[in-house]
Parts: sequence; C-alpha cells; structure tokens
Amino acid sequence: MAGPVPSLGNPQKTIEILNQYRFVFQKKYGQNFLIDGHVLDKIIRAAEITEEDYVVEIGPGIGTMTQYLAYAAKGVTAIEIDRALIPILQDTLAGYENVDIIHEDVLKVDLKRIAEEKNGGRPIKVVANLPYYITTPIIMGLFEKHVPLASVTVMVQKEVAERMQAGPGSKDYGALSLAVQYYAEPYVAANVPPNCFLPRPGVGSAVIRLRVHEEPPVKAENEALLFGVIRASFNQRRKTLQNGLAHVPELGISKETTVRVLSEMGLSGSIRGEAMTLEQFAEFTNRAAGCRKD
Ligand code: SAM
Repeated sequence: MAGPVPSLGNPQKTIEILNQYRFVFQKKYGQNFLIDGHVLDKIIRAAEITEEDYVVEIGPGIGTMTQYLAYAAKGVTAIEIDRALIPILQDTLAGYENVDIIHEDVLKVDLKRIAEEKNGGRPIKVVANLPYYITTPIIMGLFEKHVPLASVTVMVQKEVAERMQAGPGSKDYGALSLAVQYYAEPYVAANVPPNCFLPRPGVGSAVIRLRVHEEPPVKAENEALLFGVIRASFNQRRKTLQNGLAHVPELGISKETTVRVLSEMGLSGSIRGEAMTLEQFAEFTNRAAGCRKD
C-alpha cells in the first residue's frame, strides 16, 4: 500500500481537473470517466486487490481508479492512449511511487513482459473501466496471448457482461460466452447506471470479474480448431451445427463427419450450436479433428 488516500472519484474534483487542463473529450477513445466513489470501491473489492498484487490498468483517464488501485496494490502500470491525459496523470498520481504510466495503445503493449519485469512472471491482475469500442479485442487479446493473469475485472457494457456469463439455451449465449468461459470463471459484481460517469454513456454498464482458470475446464487438442468450430456454429445463429460448419470449408469438417460424430456423442444431427455446452464443443472438435479433409 502506498501514497495518499484517493482524492478523485467525485464530480466536483473531476470537473475541476478537466477545466484546469482544458481537457477535450475524444469520442473515438470511448472516454466516460467514473465519478462515483462507491462504484470505485466496488471495483477494487470485486478485483480482490491486496498489497501482494501487481495490477495493469487499461485506460486510466485522469487517474481516478489508478489512485484507488495504487493505494491498495503493490504496484500499478497504467496504459493510456490519449496523449492529452499524460500530463494530467503525472499530476494526479504524483504522490504514488508505485505507479508507472505508459503512453500507448494497449493492443500494442507486451503485457507478458510487464508481468515478467514487474511481477517476476507471476500472474498479474488487470482492472479497467474499458473503452467500449474495443472491449472484446482487449479481453480476448489478454487470453489468447497467454499473459500470466490471476483475474480481469472490467467495466463493460451491460449486454456484453450478460453475454460473457450466459449458458446454453439463453438468448445471450454465443461465441463470446464460450471463449470467455474457456479461459475464466465470470462473475457480475455490479450493475452501474450512466449517471456514475462523465459524460454519461448511452448504455448501461456492469462490472464483471473473470477469474482466470489455471487449466481450461475442457481439454482441447487443437484450440484454434475449437474456436473455429465455435465461431462457425454461431455465425448464422439459427443454423444447425452441420450446416454452420459446412459453410466454413477451411475447417475441413464435412456434413457427414458432423452428423457421424454427433451421433457417436448421442446428440441429434440437427442440433444447433446454441444448445451445446463447452464440454460438447470440445468433445466434438477432438473427435472430428481426426477426420478432417485437407
Ligand atoms: N479509467 C478512467 C475512469 O474510470 O474514469 C477512464 C475510463 S474511459 C471509459 C476509457 C479510457 O481508455 C480513456 O481514458 C481512453 O482514453 C482510454 N483508451 C481508449 N482506447 C485505448 C487504447 N487502445 N489503449 C489504451 N487506452 C485507451
């Protein structure tokens, strides 16, 4: 734990700083700054931050949540794309010696190296009020690049949180649900209304914690093929698995193979992806892999 008690996280102070620096919001960067101390406390609690943790914050804005994180954690690296926010961050975080600020697009930052250099390669925690225009690439990037992660606790659009958490049979269930649940256990910690942000977003938001599995819950012999099958089967939602997969010839899984493997698994040949669990997708892909056409 280091530095002063956080002073940001209310509308007055945020407006004062924005005026002082004549800050102009950039719509293209998804800038909606948190102005509610209760929500900030909830995020820190949901992320289970302790003095042992090293945290990466994506998009610190004016440093509001960064103060809370720096106060609770061993150290923080905050990655911000907007050049205009860097002098503000240097000012609002001046009292915290355990914070590094990086001016960069998070999609271009090697987070594995940060975990290596700052945390001896041990799993880090990612915490963010995400820019909504790149929520999925950021989260999937963290998982697919195999950054050592303990958890990812993020503010996202409410509908996206619901999709990440959904199971088979729900209207929200899809490729994102399966991809997230392959890597992590999702838990929605809070719903957050638009008035907790400046400016107010046009959508509701939610804080979701993804506790990263040490080992995936299913064994996929070919991860890329598993995700290819999942994506193809949700591309056209109402399609059966056999038609969905036949539409993506690169997968090399014929209609005949699909029907035969489904039958071996005791499933109907006309099953839709939306009715299949992660375990069933993994088993299907492992069995079908041996019968692929080149
Ligand atoms: N954390 C702050 C808060 O809660 O008040 C700001 C959150 S705001 C929703 C998203 C932040 O992400 C903005 O500061 C924005 O400039 C930054 N951002 C947007 N795209 C980014 C990117 N590709 N890499 C790093 N930061 C980005």
